[in-house]
Amino acid sequence: MENSTIAAIATPGGQGGIGIVKISGSEALSIASAIFSPAEFNPLSDSASPTALLNVSAEAMTSHRLFYGHIVDPENQRALDEVLLSVMKSPRSYTREDVVEINAHGGPAAVRAILELVLRQGARLAEPGEFTRRAFLNGRIDLTQAEAVIDIINARTRKSLQLAAAQVSGTLRLSVEKVREALVDLLIRIEAGIDFPDEVPELLEPAVVTAEIENCIISPLQDLIQKHTHGHVLRDGLKVGVVGRPNVGKSSLLNCLVQKERAIVTEVPGTTRDAIEETISIDGVPVVLIDTAGMHDTNDPIERMGIQKTVENVNGADLIIFMIEAGVALSVDDHQIYAQFEDKPKILVINKIDLVDSIATVDWPVAWNISKCTQISALHARGIDALKQEILATAFGDNPIEIDSGIVPNIRQYRLLSDSLEAAQAICDELTNDAPMELIAIHLQEAIDALGQILGTNLKVDVLDQIFSQFCIGK
Ligand code: GDP
Repeated sequence: MENSTIAAIATPGGQGGIGIVKISGSEALSIASAIFSPAEFNPLSDSASPTALLNVSAEAMTSHRLFYGHIVDPENQRALDEVLLSVMKSPRSYTREDVVEINAHGGPAAVRAILELVLRQGARLAEPGEFTRRAFLNGRIDLTQAEAVIDIINARTRKSLQLAAAQVSGTLRLSVEKVREALVDLLIRIEAGIDFPDEVPELLEPAVVTAEIENCIISPLQDLIQKHTHGHVLRDGLKVGVVGRPNVGKSSLLNCLVQKERAIVTEVPGTTRDAIEETISIDGVPVVLIDTAGMHDTNDPIERMGIQKTVENVNGADLIIFMIEAGVALSVDDHQIYAQFEDKPKILVINKIDLVDSIATVDWPVAWNISKCTQISALHARGIDALKQEILATAFGDNPIEIDSGIVPNIRQYRLLSDSLEAAQAICDELTNDAPMELIAIHLQEAIDALGQILGTNLKVDVLDQIFSQFCIGK
């Protein structure tokens, strides 16, 4: 199966300037050769019915060159499209196999017809992520780089892209490899110590080993874990729930922030029933806004379901925008909403300041853990820039997201880093308790294995399937 030649449409569906059909595998060149007529032979020359397909041999296709010509169906000699063919011979290609990319016109019919023709010549339709999976299996990239390719495809803002691009170049791999090497080095010494207890005593002094683990293993692992905690929003987006009682202006704020009429703004309370998510970019940080169904007491079962769904969705948010209305006394609903999200980091937003004469003074209970408020008019787009900055400040405090290092482990990597850290910490505990070296060696192996799974050196097939299924077909 891994040896078969695979093909897929590599560009998104719909109409576009160009559409690309990508072929990878040992048959890629011969398949291309069977359906491509180079322009020198001009199959479409002045006659309405093209002359016979004239192939260029696979050997004659020079690597890393573009060929101009036509894709012609060998069965009926009909030209399908005018194309540019790029040829990248193994091993100098994305998958390290022979790769041919057919750059056709971007209509869905053209690329689909070409793909069908390629499949008829013996290629198999690629699975999602199969090109990148081959790049990984053939040793061109490690797993951290393969996963960063997903992030590049999914990047929603400039900063997310910058980060994913840095990771594709192998920054995370280098950091993880360094820690893994330190673990392996220690394991070798400990095993030597077990086999020849009299020969390496000073290197295995518990205090020496503990200090080494602290400096070369625990500290760098903690650093990487912290980078996930701080930076994961660049990949996943900062989730911000917008809550408040009906008609306070939540949908209006959402519209104002996304600058389009996404949520339905209405004067009838309780009509925004489902949670609505929109992603915006604030200074390059992707921010996922969750608009909410009007949160208030109701006996309507459908509305109650909407409110329940909202609570669940907003409970997963990184922070809350809690909206109240200028010049209107706080209601029971306001108090209930506050209580519901009491433990979340939140921004108190006073909306509709255009309706009050002077700068609104709103008193909120001293018991509320809120020190200041942001005043806006969602309808007239007042105070919106200040609110955007407040969102970043509340989420990141004085620690602006550091992306210079280019390392932000994803959730899978984060869990494995945590496993490795736990094993390393267990070693320190065992050392204090004078545990036998055999036990230390077991924990070391656990820590090494967890890091190996990040790099993809000791992975199970189902984990690979899971990772690569996140890709689109054609990548
Ligand atoms: P939601 O139920 O909280 O989503 O509230 P909506 O966004 O649907 O707004 C309810 C009503 O308040 C609509 O008529 C809006 O036009 C109005 N509204 C929202 N924001 C403002 C504002 O800043 N000033 C004024 N005057 N009206 C607003």
